[in-house]
Amino acid sequence: MNRGTCVLLYSGGLDSTLAALLLARQGWRLHALSILYDGRPSREIAAARALAGSLPFVTREEADIRGFGYGGENFSARSGPAATPGAGPDEGYIPFRNLIFWSLAAHRAAVLRAGAIAAGHTAEDGRSYNDASSRFFKQFSRLLAFPGRPDPGTTITVLLPLLDVSRETWWHTALDLSPDRRFWKRTWSCWKEGAAPCGRCFACRERRAVLSGAAGGA
Ligand SMILES: [Zn+2]
Repeated sequence: MNRGTCVLLYSGGLDSTLAALLLARQGWRLHALSILYDGRPSREIAAARALAGSLPFVTREEADIRGFGYGGENFSARSGPAATPGAGPDEGYIPFRNLIFWSLAAHRAAVLRAGAIAAGHTAEDGRSYNDASSRFFKQFSRLLAFPGRPDPGTTITVLLPLLDVSRETWWHTALDLSPDRRFWKRTWSCWKEGAAPCGRCFACRERRAVLSGAAGGA
């Protein structure tokens, strides 16, 4: 079934990779959009580029917004707000991250006449970050009615395919779509620059949580 065209925010991580496969199975033609921003780990950029060839993307683009400044610098260990109340300072914090990223996706969707924009946010992301919450997406969806011209034309829908995938079912869903564990190992989630994942950041903790149900791990 052809559902139309969708612009997917693709990072090269586990979640957006699973989102790509889920959306393709649902019948969406995917245009991947990867955003290059200050502080983005080079291993993640490399993973996105390397995996794109193995994913059902019609096209893949990179939007380069480097030079805005790395959010983490202004939110150092002493002064930084915690993403989750009670948690430590968050090195992955980028002010208005999802407002910026989703706006870029909406722009590309309007240019490409795509009917949908998507990303791999999970329910856990929405609990931890207010710019990945259901309230954020409800308000952002309203903004999509204002593309900047009198006749807005095609409406753009927000798709969040991973909201239906729990931590418990994540790995089962992933292997159902791509059974080779080595494929999933090629994704990169850690927020830190390094040869190996740090094991401590939010992304590493989430990766461990979803993969804890995996016999043999990944
Ligand atoms: Zn990490």
